[in-house]
Amino acid sequence: MKTEPGKANSSKRTAKTETKERVFEGLGVSPGVAIGPAHLREGEVARVPEYGVAAAKVAAEVQRLEKAIEKAVRQLQKIRSKSAGFHGTSGEELGYLLEAHLQMLSSRRLREGVIARIAKRLNAEAAVAREIESIAAAFAELDDPYLRSRASEIREVGQRILRNLNQRGFSGFGDLNIGSVVVAEEITPADTALMDPAKVAGFACALGGAEGHTAIMARSLGLPAVLGTPGIVGGVDPGSPVILDGSEGLVIVNPTKKRLAFYRKRQAEQAKEVKALARLRKLPAETKDGTRIQLQANLELPREVGQATAVGAEGVGLLRTEFLYMNRNDLPDEEEQTDVLSGMVAGLAGKTVTIRTLDIGGEKLASSLGGHLGACANPALGVRAIRLSLRAPELLETQLAAILRAGAAGPIRILLPLITSVEELRETRTILLKVWRRLKRRKVRMAKVLPPLGVMIEVPGAALSADALAREADFFAVGTNDLIMYTLAIDRGEEQVAHLYNPLHPAVFRLIHFAVDAGLRAGKSVSVCGEIAGDPRYTALLIGLGVRELSMGPKALARVKDRVRKLDAAAAARLASEISMLSDAAEIARLLDFFNERI
Ligand code: PEP
Ligand code: MG
Repeated sequence: MKTEPGKANSSKRTAKTETKERVFEGLGVSPGVAIGPAHLREGEVARVPEYGVAAAKVAAEVQRLEKAIEKAVRQLQKIRSKSAGFHGTSGEELGYLLEAHLQMLSSRRLREGVIARIAKRLNAEAAVAREIESIAAAFAELDDPYLRSRASEIREVGQRILRNLNQRGFSGFGDLNIGSVVVAEEITPADTALMDPAKVAGFACALGGAEGHTAIMARSLGLPAVLGTPGIVGGVDPGSPVILDGSEGLVIVNPTKKRLAFYRKRQAEQAKEVKALARLRKLPAETKDGTRIQLQANLELPREVGQATAVGAEGVGLLRTEFLYMNRNDLPDEEEQTDVLSGMVAGLAGKTVTIRTLDIGGEKLASSLGGHLGACANPALGVRAIRLSLRAPELLETQLAAILRAGAAGPIRILLPLITSVEELRETRTILLKVWRRLKRRKVRMAKVLPPLGVMIEVPGAALSADALAREADFFAVGTNDLIMYTLAIDRGEEQVAHLYNPLHPAVFRLIHFAVDAGLRAGKSVSVCGEIAGDPRYTALLIGLGVRELSMGPKALARVKDRVRKLDAAAAARLASEISMLSDAAEIARLLDFFNERI
């Protein structure tokens, strides 16, 4: 919907309500100030175009529908054949679901119902949306809970046909005015991947926590964002002027002139600060007493490669590969993955890129896998990450082959997510060797030597068995986002428990301490790539624990470098040692903040 700023189009609201300032409080998850007209994101079905079709064009419209259904069948068959190798219940479950979707697509009720609506001169998209809703409503009324659950299945099938019909794929933000602030009930990580910071000023949502993947991607893209903001969707009209304060977690609708002036000044100050920090680019990340720290980048999307080099990242400590599987109906094959990853590795011009295998499941659901695989009662504890890869060796082998081939473009390391045991590492290494030999036999261009294989330390079980893991892993990457979630039993993407998410909880500190010590004692490289690595508040603590590699979103790098250069590593070590004697989170926070204030 395109409405000029300030011209809200809800006739029910009075002029007074339209212009009255309203302040909503949420979680400031990505810093910065965004000012722009609100773009309300509607549900996918609500965006379906609806128009009349001339009698002479009805046959063509039916043909359009047939093609979209055929394409959907082909897409599902392709996913089914690629996932045929999935082991165990997840594979079976996916198989049943895909089968059910295929059956729905070929059901006469759906096809004939839609055609009957088109015959009444309705366009195909609207006909599909209405027919799907009527079938879903019929399912929803049934007594049998299994059949009732089919309502959401049929809606998913409908969305697939609609995407094929309008051929826009997953372009969720194509229709907004440049500089808009997106307001939505929820923005998923896949949605965030579609946002172009040149077009979107920032976003505010009713749902979402500070350490979920949506928040991480917002920070990575440098988009101010406020999540977990109750009432925001009903509280703003499309086009109303909005200020988003991503640091304080405020969304100000219809701001007063005074407030607007204040925030414009803040924006200017922040731009100045970014410019000043950019001067650090060429300077080394070295503490005052001469300890060299490697500052690396976390990459979410290919377009961030340029940012990483622009800020002077010394490599990539974490390349998340989930983007390859998002916003699409099919799975990326080896060639496609090789092309994309090779481009990214080449872009880093000789600096090491740590490529992590697929971490799908839990909060990170991928449409290309039907969105089903993490969909168990406790998704974060279910078939996620390495568990999915080992259950679907075909997927893993394809990905490992692509990663090894990308190794021809520059130095790489391979990182495994959500490792909980040495056995998972061994099993993956066996598969890696098999793929390596196969590529070698076929004389495919790839990495000259077998790349180091490392593990994420992001589960308490892994942290506490880090000594065993360190004997077999080539390196550690400590993922504090999940480590905190699993240690404190707090869903990182859930706004209701976001206030309990505490990196300074003594249990978290002890786990990091133990794992870092175990890795370093074994002479392995240990980096921290969770979000705390990019927050200067924690820099002294991590350096004090002996960490010498920090990997973070490119936008965070300059600020952390600034902190490193002001620090004394020996003093940081004393701080960490004092903190290791404390057992109270508030005391730890007080001591750390006191130390930071004196830097
Ligand atoms: C982590 O868990 O800290 C991490 C870096 O991985 P992700 O955020 O992708 O789960
Ligand atoms: Mg993680």
